[in-house]
Amino acid sequence: MGNPLSNSIKYVPGVGEARARLLEREIGVVTMGDMLYHFPFRYIDRTKVYRIADIDEDSASAYVQFRGRVTGFGLSGEGRKRRFSVHVTDGTGSAELIWFQGIKWVEKRFEVGREYMVFGRPSFFRGELSVVHPEAELVEKYISRPRESGLQGVYPMTEKLSGALGAKGLYNIICSLWGIVRNSIDDPLPERMRSRHGLLSLGDALYNIHFPQSQELLKQAQYRLKFDELLGIQLNIQSLRAARTQRRDGFIFSRVGERFNGFYTQRLPFPLTGAQKRVVKEIRSDTVSGCQMNRLLQGDVGSGKTVVALMAMLLANDNGFQACIMAPTEILARQHYATISRLTEGLPVQVDILTGTTRAKERRGILESLSSGRTDILVGTHALLEDCVVFSNLGFVVIDEQHRFGVEQRAKMWTKNSQPPHILVMTATPIPRTLAMTLYGDLDVSVIDELPPGRRPVKTAHYYEQSRLRLFGFMREQIRAGRQIYVVYPLIEESEKMDYRNLIDGFENIVRDFPAPDYRVAVCHGKMKPADKEEAMRGFKAGETDILVATSVIEVGVDVPNATVMVIESAERFGLSQLHQLRGRVGRGGEQSYCILMSSEKLSADSRKRLEAMCQTNDGFRLAELDLRLRGAGDIGGTMQSGMAFDLKIANPTLDNQVLQLTQGIAMEVLEEDPTLSKPENSGLRGLRSRYSNEKGMDFSMIS
Ligand code: ADP
Ligand code: MG
Repeated sequence: MGNPLSNSIKYVPGVGEARARLLEREIGVVTMGDMLYHFPFRYIDRTKVYRIADIDEDSASAYVQFRGRVTGFGLSGEGRKRRFSVHVTDGTGSAELIWFQGIKWVEKRFEVGREYMVFGRPSFFRGELSVVHPEAELVEKYISRPRESGLQGVYPMTEKLSGALGAKGLYNIICSLWGIVRNSIDDPLPERMRSRHGLLSLGDALYNIHFPQSQELLKQAQYRLKFDELLGIQLNIQSLRAARTQRRDGFIFSRVGERFNGFYTQRLPFPLTGAQKRVVKEIRSDTVSGCQMNRLLQGDVGSGKTVVALMAMLLANDNGFQACIMAPTEILARQHYATISRLTEGLPVQVDILTGTTRAKERRGILESLSSGRTDILVGTHALLEDCVVFSNLGFVVIDEQHRFGVEQRAKMWTKNSQPPHILVMTATPIPRTLAMTLYGDLDVSVIDELPPGRRPVKTAHYYEQSRLRLFGFMREQIRAGRQIYVVYPLIEESEKMDYRNLIDGFENIVRDFPAPDYRVAVCHGKMKPADKEEAMRGFKAGETDILVATSVIEVGVDVPNATVMVIESAERFGLSQLHQLRGRVGRGGEQSYCILMSSEKLSADSRKRLEAMCQTNDGFRLAELDLRLRGAGDIGGTMQSGMAFDLKIANPTLDNQVLQLTQGIAMEVLEEDPTLSKPENSGLRGLRSRYSNEKGMDFSMIS
C-alpha cells in the first residue's frame, strides 16, 4: 500500500468520490498528505462563552460561542429559498439560527425549552443577531465532553465547501484522517538539528496544529512547521546559488566601448544620482566576475531604474552581445521603446520592439533582424518569451516591474541562450534580501534609495463620494494651472463587465463636467484597439489632453512629468502596492502633486487601513511591508503568493523573518558540509528540499 500520505483523500471515512472531487476543486486537496498540510488559519477558544448582548457588529468577522434556550422554530420560504430557523435567547438577548441546507437533518434536533451551545459566525439583520449554519449541541453534552485545551482550528474554506460539508465538516475529516496517518509521519530533520533548535517532532507538530493541546504547544507546532517550510525553501535557494556561483560560465563584459561611453558623455540628459552610479558599478563588477549575474534592482517608483538598465544593456552591446528588456504591459513596452530610442539617438544601437500586437510582416522582419544579430536591444512584452523569438547572441536580460511576472516567465528567459545571460530584474516594491530570495529565488539585491533631485513628495487625501464636487473644483484649478490629471478605475477580472461599465459611466460624467472645447478628456482601457490606446497615451504625453480616464493599465511605469493629479476611483478595491504604483505616476516633475483616493463609505477594516496608510506615508518600503501583513494571513488562494517562487502554507515571509534568517544560515551550513545532501543523516533534508522545490518551473535543469 505504501505510505498512506500519498493515498487519495477519498478513502478517508466520510469523504468518498464526490467530496474528494469537491476538495480538489475548491482547495486543491488530492492526497491525505495534502489534507494533513491544510492547516487552520486561526483558532478559536471554545472555552469562552459570550453573552448574546455582548456580541456586536464588530464581532461579525469572527466566530463566537453562546448559550441559547430555544423559544421556537419553523420552516419558511419555498424551493431554494427554503430555510429552517430556530429562535433562542440567553436572557440578555435573542438570536436566530438559520439553515438553508441539511434541513431534514437539523429539524429533528431542536426542542423548545432546551438549552444549546451555539457556535458560528454572527451576522446582523436589522440589528438582530443571526447565525447561518451554526454548530449547536445540547449544553449538557457540551459540558460532559472532555476538552484538552478548548482551542479549535478554523480551516480555510470556500463557500461551496462549507455548504457541502457543514461547519464542522473539514474538522471531522481531519479527525478521521489523523487516525489513518498518525503512524506514518517520518521526521525529515536529523535528531541533532531538532534538539539544537528545540523543535517538536513533526508528528507532534502536525497533531498540535490540528488539535492544539495548549496555547504553548500550538505555538511550538507552528514554529516547527514554519521552520520546515522555510528550511526546505532555503535548501533550494542555496543549492541553486551554489551551483550558479560554482559554474564559471557567465559572459564577461570586459570592454567599456563607444555605446556605453557615448551615451554617458553625450546622451545622458542629467547627472546620475549617487545610488544610480553605485548600482551601475555593481552590475559592472558582476559582469566581469565570470559568474552569471542574477540581480534584483529595487527602487521606489520614479527613482530612475530605466536609465540604469539601459546602461547595462549598452555595456552588453559594447561586448558584442544583444540585450532585451521585457515589460508587463504593451503601453510600458512602447514607452520604454520610445525612451530608449530617444536616448540612444546618434549611437550605433539598433533598437526594436516586439509585442503581442506587432503585425505579422513587421514581426518577421524583427525576428530576422534578431536572429541575424542586427538588433542590439529588443524591447517587448511577454511576446519575447515565445519560442519563435530567437536571439543570435543574447547576453543581458532586463525584466521590468518584475512583480507582475510569474516565476515561470522569468525562468523561461534564462533558456533563451545555450549559455544563460545575465539577468537584471527590477521592481518598485522594496523588500529585505532574505524575503526577496524567498519570493523570487536566488539573487543578489541592489537598491536605488535616492530619488532624483527636486522631487516633492506627493500629497495624498482620501475622499468619499459626497466630496466629488470639491474634487472636480480642485481638478479645474489644476488644469487652469496647466497641469494634467489621471483618473483611474479598477478592473478586476471577475467583475470585468461591471468595471468597464463604471469606467465608461465615469468617463461620461467627466466629459459632462469638463466639456469641450474648454477641457480635453481622453479614455484608455484594455478593450480599446491598440492603436486607439496608443493614441490616447500619446495625446496625454504630448500635453494635448487634460484628463486621462483609464484602467490600471497605466499602473506601471508610465512617465508624464506634467501630470500632477492622480484620482483613484474605488480605491478600496486596489491593493496597497498597486495604489503606491499608481501614485508614483505623479510627482515626477518639479510641481507639487496630489493623489486623491475616492472610496465608498462602506469600508472593510483592511481597506480602511490601506487607505490610511497611503495618506500617512510615501515610503514604498513601509507600504510593502504593511501590504504583506494585511494580505498574509488566511488569504486562501490569495494573490500575494501567486507571483512567489515558492508556495508557502504557513510561514509568512514578512512576519517570520527571524525563522527565515535562521533557516538560511542552517541551509548554508548543511550544504557546505554535504552539497548534494547524500549523507544518510541528511536523507530527510533531501526529501524536504524536493518537497518545497518550486513547482512553478524554476529552472533547475540549467544548473545540474
Ligand atoms: P522608475 O524607477 O520608476 O522606473 P524611471 O526610470 O521611469 O523611474 O524614471 C523616472 C523619471 O526620472 C524619468 O523621467 C527619468 O528621466 C527621470 N530621471 C531618472 N534618473 C534621473 C536623474 N539622475 N536625474 C534626474 N531625473 C532622472
Ligand atoms: Mg519603471
